[in-house]
This record gives sequence, C-alpha cells and structure tokens, in this order.
Amino acid sequence: MTTWHQRAADLRLPTRPVLGGRPVEPLTDATFSTVNPRDGSVLTQLPACGADDVDRAVGLARAAFEDGRWRDLAPAERGRILRRFAEVVEAHADELALLETLDTGKPIGDTTAVDAPGAANNLRWYGEAADKVYGEVAPTGPDALATITREPVGVVAAIVPWNYPMIIATWKLGPALAAGNSVIVKPAEQSPLATLRLAELALEAGLPEGVLSVLPGEGATGAALAEHPDVDKITFTGSTATGRKVLAAAAGSNLKGVSLELGGKSPQVVLADAPDLDAAAETIAWGIFYNQGQTCHAGSRLVVDDRVADQVLAKIAEVARELTPGDPLDGDTQLGALVSAEQLSRVTGYLDAAAGQGAEVVLGGGVPDPSPVADGCYLEPTVIDRAPEDAAVVREEIFGPVLVVQRFDGSESEAVRLANATEYGLAGAVWTADHGRAERIAAGIRAGVVYVNCFDVGDLTVPHGGFKASGFGGRDKSLHAIEQYTELKTTWRQR
Ligand code: ADP
Repeated sequence: MTTWHQRAADLRLPTRPVLGGRPVEPLTDATFSTVNPRDGSVLTQLPACGADDVDRAVGLARAAFEDGRWRDLAPAERGRILRRFAEVVEAHADELALLETLDTGKPIGDTTAVDAPGAANNLRWYGEAADKVYGEVAPTGPDALATITREPVGVVAAIVPWNYPMIIATWKLGPALAAGNSVIVKPAEQSPLATLRLAELALEAGLPEGVLSVLPGEGATGAALAEHPDVDKITFTGSTATGRKVLAAAAGSNLKGVSLELGGKSPQVVLADAPDLDAAAETIAWGIFYNQGQTCHAGSRLVVDDRVADQVLAKIAEVARELTPGDPLDGDTQLGALVSAEQLSRVTGYLDAAAGQGAEVVLGGGVPDPSPVADGCYLEPTVIDRAPEDAAVVREEIFGPVLVVQRFDGSESEAVRLANATEYGLAGAVWTADHGRAERIAAGIRAGVVYVNCFDVGDLTVPHGGFKASGFGGRDKSLHAIEQYTELKTTWRQR
C-alpha cells in the first residue's frame, strides 16, 4: 500500500485561481508561497489575487446571480446539486485531506476522519435543508395579506482562516449556496489548496459555472473583497483585529452586510464537586490540545477550584505526555505541526513573556528535540499555572496548544466573574455535579455556546458564534446560518 508520504509526493497541487469552477490564469503577476509546516518546505507558488482579479470574480458572480442560473432553480434542485457536491467531495476525500494536511500540519488521521468528511457533511446537510425553509404569513388584519419571504443577498464573499480551512469554508458555502447566492471564497494564505480543489469539484458536481469562485491571496485580497462595492455580504472568520478592518471596509464602501466569527479565550470552569475529575481533565486536555490548540472555541483557560486544581492538572499532564507532536503524514500522529513558523514564534513569544507576567510554565513549553521532522513547526502541549488575571496569556488568544490555569476559591460568583473576565465570549464550560450550580453558572457565562460536564460536542445542528468581541452578525452552522445569507422581504397585497 502506498503511504501518505508517497501519495503526497505524487499529488497535483492547485496553482491557479478557480473562477466560476474553472482554474484560470490570474490577472496579477504577484505571487505568494504556501509552505508545508511539517518541514518548512515551499509547497507551491500561488497568485496573490489583486483588485483586478477580485473585480473579475465579482463580475462573474454578479452575472450568475442576475441571470438566475442558480437562484431561480427550484430549492429542491439546488439541494440535489449540493448533495451531489457532497458525494464528489467524499469520492475525493483522501486527496482533500492530504492537501489540507500539507497546507496546515494537521495530522492526516484528523483530516481524513474529521476535516474531509466534515466538509462533505456540511454540504449535504445544507443540501437537505435547501427546500425546507418556509416563509411566513404576517398576522395582519383581514384587509391585507402580507407574506415574509427569504431572498438570497446576492454576491457573498467568504473570508476564511487556516485552522479548519475546508470545514469553515463549507459552513459558509453550504447555507450561502442553498439560499441561491453566488459565492467567492478567499482562503487563508497559509491554507488555500483544499479549498481551490473544492471549487473545481463543485463544477464537476453540477453547480452552474460562475456561481462559485476561489481566489487565493493574502490579506490584500480579502481587503479588496471587503471594499468592493458590488459584494453584498462578507462572512468572515478570523482574528478580532482583522474583523475590525473588514467591518470598517464594509462601512466605507457599500454598507455590505457583515458577519464576524472572531477569537475566543474560552473558560473551562471546574468546581470541586465535578462528577469525575479524571474524565473531566481528559476532556479538558483534548479541548485545548486538539488541532494543536488552533481552534477558535478551544477551552484555553482552566478556571479551577484550588482544592482540586493539583489533581486536575496531574491528569491533564498525563494526557499531554501521551500527545507528543509527530509527523502529520504519519497515520498514528495525534498532535501535528502548528500552521507556520510565524504562528509558532507568536505562541512561543507568549510563553517567553509568561514568566515576566508572574506566571509559571509547568508543563511542556518547548519545541520538541529532536523535531518529529526537521525544520517543522512543532510545540509540546503546554500548561501555564498561577497566571495573574491581567497577564497577556490570560487575556489574549494564543492560538496554540497552551492551557492557562486560573485557580479560584470555589465560590460560584467568582467562577462566573473569572469566566467572563476577557473581551471574548465564544464558548465556556462548567463541570459540577450540582445541577442548580451548573444551570446558574451556564446562564452566567456570556458566550455563544456553553457546555455542562462536557466540551466540544460538535454537531452541525447547533449554531456557532460568539458574544462580545467574539463576533456578531449571525451564526455559522444550523438552520440559523441561512439567515446570514438571506434578506427578509415583505410583500403586501390589499384584499
Ligand atoms: P491570522 O492573524 O490568524 O492569520 P486573520 O484574521 O488575519 O488571521 O486571517 C483570516 C483571513 O482574513 C485570512 O484569509 C486572511 O488572508 C484574511 N485577511 C487578512 N487581512 C485582511 C484584511 N485587511 N481584510 C480582509 N481580509 C483579511
């Protein structure tokens, strides 16, 4: 059997923008490299799409929208094509998983088990939903009939990050396409390959030409989309700093709609009476270390009753020691590479600064020696204890395999106060056997999703998005996601 290493060597890598489903020559001469964080090698050069490329893609998307080749299909037909898209993704799952692993350093075991099937599932689920969204009849008086219907917004630009490239792209593509929009995806510069391939597969699956484009590029490509006067909607997932820029660009152009899904610093609140501390600790460890800690809703803060803190930390350390970083192309690897050398140095920068901020790195913190693969971007699972509340490692999103511990005296009000003491509000968890306390703390945590005695129970049926600086303007996932990509229209008839 060929190994993943051999298959990677034989893989065809996308190198051009995909316009309306077909790879085309870019208008720009500018390029950027996409680098394999497994070993620091350049995978390929890609065009850094400029304002001209964006303009061309928007024109194509607009034309496809206006002539109705997609939005005027019966919803059941759009659904059928999306489900066919899911099947084609499944048929190419290994190829897509491999592209994703090469680009991001995620273990191939994860991309084959989670990312590629997840992308197919997202497309299928929204394909199934396409003809199950009803309008409303308003309860007006007897002299009139007013219907409230949902119409597609038009040209949607999806700007996505590098941590779950295919999953997040399809969280947006699924509902946006189901609703009848044209979509342009701008993948992150660290991870464009699988998404470019997805756009080719969409055409193969029967999506009409012109409806879906993918433009590789760096921040400037995203900025050109955010500024473009003929883009109707930006759906953005990424950092809070970039989200602010997208919002400003939208405000300064055509006041396009904006949905932002931004950072997090999610608390795992553990009370002394948590039902099974060892099991909780294991879930908490996975909740921060999975995907090398590069998950927006990762449980990156452990807010733990001082009386059980040592026991919980001992178990987390036991789990972490099993999670040695390994070669992403090795099927047994559980912890792969961070996405880039830049991200690795950002994370180690936080660790270097932690001591000066009164915190203590009590586990990991080092670049593994020897490195699983020479010149790759690896970091041991890390725990920082006794961090003061104002330390950067407590307040800021690190986006690496780093758990920060905040001990507290066990009082319920202090637990809620600490849980909420960051600018973010994406997720949170509470671990306790006392149902009343669980309900009160869950209600007190200001976040888009709260878990009780569990964490990261991923399912497409629930919305994903945050309070506070974690974002606004709609949600990814669930039927609520369709709201992001539709306008409500009222039509009155006088009787
Ligand atoms: P990170 O800092 O973790 O790379 P970003 O939020 O900067 O996260 O990136 C998320 C996405 O936003 C990427 O596709 C990136 O290219 C894009 N991006 C970066 N800068 C801008 C910008 N000024 N306007 C629009 N998109 C941008």
